[in-house]
Amino acid sequence: MLPAGAAHRFPGDQPDGTPLTDAAHSAYRVLARKYRPATFADLIGQEAMVRTLRNAFEADRIAHAFVLTGVRGVGKTTTARIVAKGLNCVGPDGQGGVTIEPCGVCGPCVSIAEGRHVDVLEMDAATHTQVEKMRDLLASVPYRPTDVRYKVYIIDEVHMLSTSAFNALLKTLEEPPAHVKFIFATTEIRKVPVTVLSRCQRFEDVAALVRARRDVSLLIEIEQGVRLVKYAPGRIEFEPADGAAPDLAARLGQRLQLWTGVRWGVSVVGSGGAATIAELREAERAGLHARAAAHPMVQAVLAAFPGAEIREVRTADGPEAGPAVLAPAPEAGEDEDDEWDPFDPASEE
Ligand SMILES: [Zn+2]
Repeated sequence: MLPAGAAHRFPGDQPDGTPLTDAAHSAYRVLARKYRPATFADLIGQEAMVRTLRNAFEADRIAHAFVLTGVRGVGKTTTARIVAKGLNCVGPDGQGGVTIEPCGVCGPCVSIAEGRHVDVLEMDAATHTQVEKMRDLLASVPYRPTDVRYKVYIIDEVHMLSTSAFNALLKTLEEPPAHVKFIFATTEIRKVPVTVLSRCQRFEDVAALVRARRDVSLLIEIEQGVRLVKYAPGRIEFEPADGAAPDLAARLGQRLQLWTGVRWGVSVVGSGGAATIAELREAERAGLHARAAAHPMVQAVLAAFPGAEIREVRTADGPEAGPAVLAPAPEAGEDEDDEWDPFDPASEE
């Protein structure tokens, strides 16, 4: 173990690793980084998750629960603590706000990293499956945090909870106080009941839910037809994209109610909608292509083989591996995934 605080980022460091002012400082950081990541930027290979969190934090639309999954090569607890630090960091001067670049030196950052902050409660569901433990943990939910913004509950291996423990958790998730955030970590997202997922999500996760229920035609409709205007769990307001079925809102509301057991209000407005999921995915794909095409080696290949073209660009986390947060989608390249996959470009046509 490193001494307390040793793995933290220095306040002057840039998240992209440049430029450092001090060689010793740099060497120290390399050493520290070898042990454990301390900020979002250190979560190598977790770009999708980091992007999701960055967007949520910057838009000040922080979900009251996160599900961490697909986290490979990084301890889930470490990741969860980084999120907890980001939620509660006050910066070296004590004036900072919610950030995806926790400073690592302020009081909350240090004690959270050491796992000893009173308002960051960790529970390993694999060893505490019983409802009594869950009730004990949740008993503190109504009370405000002592000296930080959020009381953060980290529940590891959440899929291991007993049904009654789950139900206790669900009750809390229905109306969580504003000062409470939950971070669920799981290695087996498919075992987390859909009801849990459905109550702690953003619109992307509605798509993930539809996908998990294998309603492919509805999935395609919402990916191509929904321009989101407003979203809260249980309430969706959207502007229909061109060609969207007039009854899409009604059908989506019905299915969501059926699957989640709670009433969903889905309404349509005439303007103000964002890009559709399909458009966002296409833009991302185009961006990857452009970057690949600009690579000198790719250019050399294209020059050497007239007529060659770039057909597909795969990144380390898979071509369409959605956000690692709150995404019940199977990971690219994982076994057991021989079913038809509507997100896989190879099976689309
Ligand atoms: Zn801090």
